[in-house]
Amino acid sequence: MKYYSLNNTAQQVSFREAVTVGLAPDKGLFFPEHIPFLGEAFFKTMASKSDVEIAFEAIRSLVLPEIPEDILYTIVEETLDFDFPIITLDKDFSILELFHGPTMAFKDVGARFMARCLGYFNQNNANNVTVLVATSGDTGGAVADGFLGVQGIRVVILYPKGKVSDIQEKQLTTLGQNIHALEVNGTFDDCQAIVKQAFIDEDLKAKIQLTSANSINVARWLPQMFYYLIACKNLGHKYDKLVFSVPSGNFGNICAGMVAQKMGMPVQHFIASCNANDTVSTYMKTTQYKPKPSVQTISNAMDVGNPSNFVRIQELYEKTFATLASNLSVHSFTDEETKSALQELYAQYKYVADPHGAVGYLGAKKYKKSHNDPHVVILETAHPAKFSSVVEHTLGLSIKLPEQLEKVKNKPKIATEVSSYQEVKAFLCK
Ligand SMILES: *Cc1c(COP(=O)(O)O)cnc(C)c1O
Repeated sequence: MKYYSLNNTAQQVSFREAVTVGLAPDKGLFFPEHIPFLGEAFFKTMASKSDVEIAFEAIRSLVLPEIPEDILYTIVEETLDFDFPIITLDKDFSILELFHGPTMAFKDVGARFMARCLGYFNQNNANNVTVLVATSGDTGGAVADGFLGVQGIRVVILYPKGKVSDIQEKQLTTLGQNIHALEVNGTFDDCQAIVKQAFIDEDLKAKIQLTSANSINVARWLPQMFYYLIACKNLGHKYDKLVFSVPSGNFGNICAGMVAQKMGMPVQHFIASCNANDTVSTYMKTTQYKPKPSVQTISNAMDVGNPSNFVRIQELYEKTFATLASNLSVHSFTDEETKSALQELYAQYKYVADPHGAVGYLGAKKYKKSHNDPHVVILETAHPAKFSSVVEHTLGLSIKLPEQLEKVKNKPKIATEVSSYQEVKAFLCK
């Protein structure tokens, strides 16, 4: 499969190149030259296939020929090394739990897949590749865990000092080996600005090979389609019409689901459930796309004012607004509504959600008000223990720390404090 830059369709590269450089030289996001159609038979017979077989068949033509099939199969197997349980709340709603991986966020799926692809491409490369990534919390942990010990790759994570939860900080500062954490005196936007500056610094790029592990990287973005397909396999025979409600920030996760739909996955509609960061919901109402600075909320992994993957969604719909609007609803909710949703999920279903999943539930409920038939699958993107202070306070209970998080809790933090781009550059060139 070839990938083109969204800034210039003539600028085509291989999957390998797209993964290795992250972003096209003209700053465009990469997009597959065509979306393979899996065919009706694939979906009719999926119940008899394993999750790994389904995922492998779906991603195969998006990757081949640069990774041999047997190696790709192993990569998919290792990526899906944990469960994706579905909890049915009632006839209207189910919850798809995506947090059973090593760092308890859905980002484990993309990070594990990308780390293994990059590790394969880089195995005989004498020069290290540096993965540079900014995190507001969950990305850093998932990328750190996914890339730990991968040969030929150095990972440098920038996070805003004092603005990620204690557990999240431990997840990215305690691993050692090839994982380095830089604690930035500033906000998440500052971290992202530093990363962007590094990617346009020709002097730096002459010295080291840089790539990104945010969802702009196709190897992190595309494997997120796996669990939508797994959910379809498990629910498709029970309900005639399925809809997904996806807690959204950068819109990478939901966009991967929409790619699966283009491949033939039988799903009626998508709901992007957002917090107070309402750039896209405003766009759907006004057709004016106006990015704005992010605002801080209790569902902080979705505090994004200019969602980087939205251009990919527009590309999928060939920029026709009407078709996009018929397939996607976008709703935005306040922190107060999110807390009420946490309480309602607990009171009505005895389900302890995290704030992101609670936003997903709000979007699902809003959609159901005007659509009676479909069954809505809500993606629960993180374990509630990752956001324990909000959840415990809102529900008046205490959450037991799962084993994955308990493990890092008492390890010593190792991070380098930085305050400027120059300091980060000096670290990278060391
Ligand atoms: C990253 C993240 C999101 C948002 O996902 P996008 O792909 O950026 O839309 C939602 N919930 C949690 C817990 C996250 O970590």
